[in-house]
Amino acid sequence: MTPEPSTIPGQRVSRWKGITAKQAAVTLIIAIAMSLLAGVAELSLEASQMRDEIQEQTRQRLDLVDGTAAEAAFQLNPDLAQQVANGLFDAGNVKRIELRDDFGRRMAVRELERDTQGSWLARWLFGDIVHYEQDLNYHVDGEENADPVGEIELILALDSLGNAFVERSVLIFSLGVIKAFAIAALVVLAFHFLITRPLLKVHAAIAQVDPERPGEWPKPRLRYHGDDELGHLVAGLDRLLKAFQHGLDQRDRLHQISTVDGLTGIANRRRFDAFLSDEWQRARRSGYSLSVLFIDIDFFKPFNDNYGHTVGDDSLRQVAHSISSTVSRTSDLAARFGGEEFVCVLPGTDIDGASAVAKRIRGAIEALHIPHAFSPVHDRITVSIGVASATPDQDDASPAPLVKQADQCLYQAKSQGRNRVVAQPD
Ligand code: GH3
Ligand code: MG
Ligand code: MG
Repeated sequence: MTPEPSTIPGQRVSRWKGITAKQAAVTLIIAIAMSLLAGVAELSLEASQMRDEIQEQTRQRLDLVDGTAAEAAFQLNPDLAQQVANGLFDAGNVKRIELRDDFGRRMAVRELERDTQGSWLARWLFGDIVHYEQDLNYHVDGEENADPVGEIELILALDSLGNAFVERSVLIFSLGVIKAFAIAALVVLAFHFLITRPLLKVHAAIAQVDPERPGEWPKPRLRYHGDDELGHLVAGLDRLLKAFQHGLDQRDRLHQISTVDGLTGIANRRRFDAFLSDEWQRARRSGYSLSVLFIDIDFFKPFNDNYGHTVGDDSLRQVAHSISSTVSRTSDLAARFGGEEFVCVLPGTDIDGASAVAKRIRGAIEALHIPHAFSPVHDRITVSIGVASATPDQDDASPAPLVKQADQCLYQAKSQGRNRVVAQPD
């Protein structure tokens, strides 16, 4: 029986559907998601650090100009006040700077020409730390206490703070994505060598399994996987395929035992019955004729009795071999019917063709020259053959009458003196 051809084991997996591609996609998605999460956490920390830095730097800048600004306010010197305002403004990130005297009169101002509101993000992150106001205290030489002589007001530019933050964000996220790609590539590479490649080897080996000889599969050798799950998988598969092979061998042996004759090695009676039944049905369908030969060794009892069973068995083997090699068409069957009787089924052969085959068999056995000193018909072993032929129609359900006719012809061959062929009369 030919097993159904299977497409699954040999199927090639497309590059984009392979395990490596899936691993790469999943690892990349996870790595990018994780780097985005890490980026968000890093950015919130970054924002808080930036807020501290901005406040600290602005305080330092204001402290740096505090003395000069106080002097300008004390002396009511607008040029000096403007210089201080310019200096602070030029240091960057300033939207507006104003110096006032102690009556609140403006002495100097400097502000951005454009109106900057800043993005919602900048307002949300830094909106509450852009406004600074500080009293200007002037110390008269040697005096401990200082009186306020004016004030300084500084407003930071939200958009430049926001831009600085966005620049940092882009850098952090770009680095994160690059890291994600690098991690994904490393993980995929490691998994490819550790799992995917050995699995592909196992897959390729399974694809080569011959369904009729599964035990002879090319068991893959997986280095470094002798004692892990992959090694156990291969060992398990090996056991399974060997068990399959054992089952198939047993099936073949049983089939052999049930259809082959143990002594002669040709088909047995059971095989003959099944074969004849099948061929009879086929002949009914196709309208071809079918012939049966009944062959019996002449005076085999005295042969056995005088030469012994061992020689008898040996002769039976020679006769069987001679019959089966004479009936050489693949569609024919030669079988041992039992004892020293043999049968042949010749599908698609009429009575004339079958008689010719029978005559060839008779001559071939005589030509074996097996001495038989106790045969009244010859000095060597001979056979008698009965031949019957039929072209069954729909009413002929069973081949039994054909077999009976062949047997009757054999009986006639015996009674007519043996060592001859008798064919069914028309
Ligand atoms: P006939 O010409 O009428 O056929 O005479 P015969 O002696 O051949 O016929 P009979 O049926 O009386 O004898 C058949 C003999 O075949 C009986 C037995 O000794 C022998 N025989 C049957 N089966 C075997 C076998 O398996 N091995 C051996 N060695 N002999 C067998
Ligand atoms: Mg007999
Ligand atoms: Mg006989």
